[in-house]
Amino acid sequence: MKKATVGAVVVGSAAVVALIVRHRMRKTSKWGRAKAILKEFEEKCATPDAKLKQVADAMTVEMHAGLASEGGSKLKMLISYVDNLPTGDEEGVFYALDLGGTNFRVLRVQLGGKSGGIIHQEFAEASIPPNLMVGSSEALFDYIAAELAKFVAAEEEKFHQPPGRQRELGFTFSFPIMQTSINSGTLIRWTKGFSIDDTVGKDVVAELEKAMHRQGVDMRVSALVNDTVGTLAGGRFSNKDVSIAVILGTGTNAAYVERAQAIPKWNGPLPKSGEMVINMEWGNFRSSHLPLTEYDHAMDTDSLNPGEQIFEKICSGMYLGEILRRVLLRMAEEAGIFGDEVPPKLKNSFILRTPEMSAMHHDTSSDLRVVGDKLKDILEISNTCLKTRRLVVELCNIVATRGARLAAAGVLGIVKKMGRDTPEESGQETIVVAMDGGLYEHYTEYRKCLENSLVGLLGEEMSTSIVFKHANDGSGIGAALLAASNSLYVEDRS
Ligand code: ADP
Ligand code: MG
Repeated sequence: MKKATVGAVVVGSAAVVALIVRHRMRKTSKWGRAKAILKEFEEKCATPDAKLKQVADAMTVEMHAGLASEGGSKLKMLISYVDNLPTGDEEGVFYALDLGGTNFRVLRVQLGGKSGGIIHQEFAEASIPPNLMVGSSEALFDYIAAELAKFVAAEEEKFHQPPGRQRELGFTFSFPIMQTSINSGTLIRWTKGFSIDDTVGKDVVAELEKAMHRQGVDMRVSALVNDTVGTLAGGRFSNKDVSIAVILGTGTNAAYVERAQAIPKWNGPLPKSGEMVINMEWGNFRSSHLPLTEYDHAMDTDSLNPGEQIFEKICSGMYLGEILRRVLLRMAEEAGIFGDEVPPKLKNSFILRTPEMSAMHHDTSSDLRVVGDKLKDILEISNTCLKTRRLVVELCNIVATRGARLAAAGVLGIVKKMGRDTPEESGQETIVVAMDGGLYEHYTEYRKCLENSLVGLLGEEMSTSIVFKHANDGSGIGAALLAASNSLYVEDRS
């Protein structure tokens, strides 16, 4: 009996030792596995300058191809019909409606004419109810027109139009549009989470005007622009050196001023200015040089628009947080970084949004408290250790750095296309890039990385000749300005 008991005790303690050893081993292999996943991801996301230059060159090549013929490239290089950017002489009260993603805005702008600038501006903002993003054309446009009706109804008398004159609106519609004139164009496809089949192929101005009619708004759409084109116009109004605009928000896109003669597919009359604003739709850029990972491929496959908007899916605000979530999920499943169970919430697509990711990335507290709080609040993961939190920040940095550096490469591609990337060609003139979008505005690390990367790519000598300027809500004002320069009531539009 006694002997047996002793034996049992021995066996028991051996089991305890074995358990401890196994636990230790699991712990080391857990971190080892997590580190391995991190390292692999980091390598796949790498964007050395040499690679960025390849991406920039590919962008330039695609720009040429897209300008050469319709469908010549993944880059649509859409002709905006904007051949005259605002001069500063515009005058009167004009409206703008900005629809491009999560929110939409209605604006009223009073322009003072020759060097009078913007005398007055006000706006109202509303979010698009998610069900309307995937509903019917009529429902979406009715909702927007109803908001516009409210805005107009509350208007002060001093902003009323002179007798016999209809209110005029610049419509910023930030989805790929095949423009047919300055104030008409058909939708090519939805992006950024919108999916309303019955709108594709339709003239969005006609859709809006019908809805305005139904909602009793008396207004004419005088300009249909994209947010990048609007931002370019708004930027130019306040700074004559603005010739590129880039949006980094829910999605991403860019526009720039092209020589009309460098657009082979343009068969209209040559504009007097000799220039034409091109809406690149660069979100749809793709190249074998883009550093894509398995997480990107999986996210793309699961998206509403697989195979499309690949550049947008690595650079823009809608997707950065989701990429991060996918890597964290893998680490939870394969390395157990959040414990033995995979946190159920971590399996929900798009639960981790980019503003949250940005808040974690910017956490400067010694114990990474913000990271801990976000993981708890959003994903219901409590009691994370500092090591885990550090890992999360590292991942944020990898995802944001890749996006920002690729966006910088995109800008370099445009500068090259404009022939302004070397000191001789630049003629020492400055190019101002009007920047806008929530991602650029709020994600400081991203913004700094984008700006520094371009300086690195251009080299010391050229680095001061490209300047980024935040054009805060330039697109709305720009659309109003374009409505003014294309007003029905302006006699001479040359
Ligand atoms: P939209 O692109 O929908 O017209 P915005 O330009 O305002 O609107 O951009 C909104 C997007 O910007 C959000 O979807 C989000 O991805 C990003 N964003 C907003 N705030 C932040 C933030 N604090 N940090 C990082 N990204 C942000
Ligand atoms: Mg926007």
